[in-house]
Amino acid sequence: MEKTDILSLNGRELETALLPFSAPRYRAAQIFDWLHKKRVPEFDGMTNIPKTFLLQLSDNFVIFDCNVEKKLKSMYDDTVKYLFSLYDGELIECVVMKYKYGSTICISTQVGCKMGCGFCASGASGFKRNLMPSEMLAQVYAAQRELDITLSHVVLMGMGEPLDNFDNVVKFFELISDPAGQNISMRKISVSTSGIVPRIYELAKLKLGVTLSVSLHAPNDEIRSKLMPINKQWGIDELIEACRAYTKATSRRISFEYIMIKGVNDSDECALLLAKRLKGMLCHVNLIPVNEVPGKTNSSSGDNRIRAFSSILAEKGINATVRRSLGSDINASCGQLRRNSMHSLNNQRESDLVV
Ligand code: SF4
Repeated sequence: MEKTDILSLNGRELETALLPFSAPRYRAAQIFDWLHKKRVPEFDGMTNIPKTFLLQLSDNFVIFDCNVEKKLKSMYDDTVKYLFSLYDGELIECVVMKYKYGSTICISTQVGCKMGCGFCASGASGFKRNLMPSEMLAQVYAAQRELDITLSHVVLMGMGEPLDNFDNVVKFFELISDPAGQNISMRKISVSTSGIVPRIYELAKLKLGVTLSVSLHAPNDEIRSKLMPINKQWGIDELIEACRAYTKATSRRISFEYIMIKGVNDSDECALLLAKRLKGMLCHVNLIPVNEVPGKTNSSSGDNRIRAFSSILAEKGINATVRRSLGSDINASCGQLRRNSMHSLNNQRESDLVV
């Protein structure tokens, strides 16, 4: 019999799932509290639940957890990067960053990614599967337990395209913001997308108020289609229109991510065109120096070019900042640790075969 993924159930679903066991109704609230507020990864840790009922729970339900395979801590700041393994041995990454206002976790939403963006290590390893809501929560809970901290913000910007795993991501929002659990406000959650236009409209309709972060990276279709295959399906005009609809429906500012690639998208003309496209929009542009990915040839625009680009945006009334690079010594950008580990696992397997 397949066990039920208990961490993915909301309070109402948990009550319903416990009905066959004739337990008092308050047990569902107690178990939800253990799972989502106290973040226990095992049924044995639920000390106010009778032992016989705990046995029934472990026979019928499973608590998905993340195991730490690797932990890297930056020498320059408090950034910590984890490589986690899941129940089926798949590997994912998450990063915890400390800011003045609190700690933020950047989590993965898929194992691998289908989108194939030209500058990204996650896309380079292909797509394996979607993460369940429980596996997104497990990253948040495992990191907090391990570091003994409380997280204030959650960013869905690790491995995967969150809007390609839409239902599970929306369920994750519901569970992580539940007042009976972590109670992280929707306003403190950011979700990134490479530009799945229909899903941006769907998200707008839900009016959850999460911050939408859009990987734009180019001011026109010609450059963007070279960097991001998804642009051939939904071009910049459609994408910007969807973003305007999102801000209109939610009154939330859109964050546009723009990787600064030397000689590709960093000219004055690009800055002027970008400013023209975003004119009058409730938005912010994050200019991001390229993080080198082995096997990818893009190199970063220099500091002076980034400053000049930023100044043009500012002159045209577009809010822009250069993203602070945290954890630069531990390859904190998404997909790199998994990719390196997969390479070493593969090498290990190859050498096992030779032996
Ligand atoms: S940048 Fe994001 S959407 Fe693009 S391949 Fe990487 S993980 Fe996927």
